[in-house]
Amino acid sequence: MTASTNALINRRNEITSKDDKTTARTSRLRHITSPNELDGFRVIGVQGLDDVAALTREEAQDILPLMSGTGATAQVVVLVSSVFYEKSGRVPPRALEVRQLIRSRFNLSGSAIEIAVAERAVLRGLLDRSVQAESEYSISSTYQEDLIEIITDALSRGGSDVHIEARKGVPSRIRVRLNGELVVRHDDCGYEYAYSLMQYIYNTLSHEGGVAFNARSQQDAVIPKLPLPRINKVVRLRVATTPTANDGHDMVLRILPLETLSEPKPLDAMGYTTRQAQQLLDAISLPQGLIVFAGTTGSGKSTSLANLLLLRAQQMEGRFKLITAENPVEYLLPGATQIPVVATELGDPQWAKAIRACLRLDPDMLMVGEIRDEDSAELIRDAVQTGHPVLSTVHAGSSLVIIDRLVGLKIPRDVLASPDFMSLMAKQDLLQTVCPDCALEYAEVSRRPTLRKARLDVLSRLRLLTEHLDRVGVDVDVNNVRFQNPEGCEKCRHATPGVIGRTACAEIVTPDRTMREMFLDPAKRGELLAYWLTQYPRESQMDIAINKMFAGIVDPSAVERKLYSLDWVVKRDVDYGVGQCQQV
Ligand SMILES: [Zn+2]
Repeated sequence: MTASTNALINRRNEITSKDDKTTARTSRLRHITSPNELDGFRVIGVQGLDDVAALTREEAQDILPLMSGTGATAQVVVLVSSVFYEKSGRVPPRALEVRQLIRSRFNLSGSAIEIAVAERAVLRGLLDRSVQAESEYSISSTYQEDLIEIITDALSRGGSDVHIEARKGVPSRIRVRLNGELVVRHDDCGYEYAYSLMQYIYNTLSHEGGVAFNARSQQDAVIPKLPLPRINKVVRLRVATTPTANDGHDMVLRILPLETLSEPKPLDAMGYTTRQAQQLLDAISLPQGLIVFAGTTGSGKSTSLANLLLLRAQQMEGRFKLITAENPVEYLLPGATQIPVVATELGDPQWAKAIRACLRLDPDMLMVGEIRDEDSAELIRDAVQTGHPVLSTVHAGSSLVIIDRLVGLKIPRDVLASPDFMSLMAKQDLLQTVCPDCALEYAEVSRRPTLRKARLDVLSRLRLLTEHLDRVGVDVDVNNVRFQNPEGCEKCRHATPGVIGRTACAEIVTPDRTMREMFLDPAKRGELLAYWLTQYPRESQMDIAINKMFAGIVDPSAVERKLYSLDWVVKRDVDYGVGQCQQV
């Protein structure tokens, strides 16, 4: 017998003698008759679960330590099988040893550890339950790790959204939106995986949704906090799900910042022209009036609104009450009261309820994420008419169409036409900006057959447009146009090759008296457009985009992908008799 074995036996004897009291009281040990009596307890001390006592699975049939809670409130029960116990009539020394190990490991007092007796079946049931929970835990921690990796990768490449697409019959994919463009991350991750990942994200991480993942309905939720340790960041995620054709499912995760915005971004750096920046600043400085942005998802309108609010907060040096109602809150603004708009059981966000809550709080300025329904529109109308500046968004294809949209939401035309109601209407998109380090010059593209071949159509439209602008006296030089280099370079290759970022491309309308009068009459819609195009020439979104194109900031194809084809401008100018731009 080796010395160490001797030492072990001595130690066992010592423990046994210390616990003689327990041995003497064995008849009074609690008898556990069902695993349910130990709900909330998890197995510890068994190999593979928690090695504190290094019990084998074999041994665990007769001695099974379980724990609930942690720290000072922890409770431990060491179960001894009745077979084992009844045979010897004593608490087995190994059980006492295990108790001692647990006591010192978790720093517990003697009274916190109970020894109890149960049938082997009960011990086995409890062990199975823990093993199952453990494997579920390790599966879900894999999903969590995968999600963290996907978001980390997306964010470090400047991504804004992650799309999980579970499909039957065709590949299930995970795609990431980089600079506005969907890029494949996994081209075939399998339906089961994609579906389980969605389910895990919705059920385990999401808040505010209020309900479990339902594959048959469209759901919205928020993940309030997702730490990304590798890049030392924490983000929030907005989750939107929907069933798709053929039993498919989509989940889109919008990555939202968790940090409170502190410094507003300069408006020109966001892509607005000098005149547009002034229009925006003038509008937010008015004591009342409605500022409405139109644009699709990902058009940067939330970012713009958040920046405007921040600018106004700075102007006011915090001496005003700014309240926002959003679904979900996108940017956290310092000093603002931000109310998340919650979805009902049916999934419909309760906008009117949230706006009513805002108005009760005596706001100086209000931002409502979206004017969605007539009730909300009516409340917003009241807010403006009682002397509040209100910022919001609607879905509309152009800035002037915002009026039709508001009429559709039952805001009367005479209200829209009143002098202090509409402060500003904007429509915007984000256009990809070419990487200046590797962009292709016009001369090179039109000279090299390989480069020219892929761009024949756009080059001919570009020439047509240049000639037209030249004819009407707009000074542009086609040689300043730059094309995205599909190969990219060191600086841009990691995200979207040839693209360095995005710029806001907006049309901003500050209604004048003539325009307001035209708001009154639905038959004057065409006249209104003609008036705006001729009185404020080259201020439409397409004209702003073309300016950026001739400045070498955006590729002609990027303009055409988001807006109209270049020759559309020629037709429009002829149609409406649009002349030279008075202000560049
Ligand atoms: Zn580049």
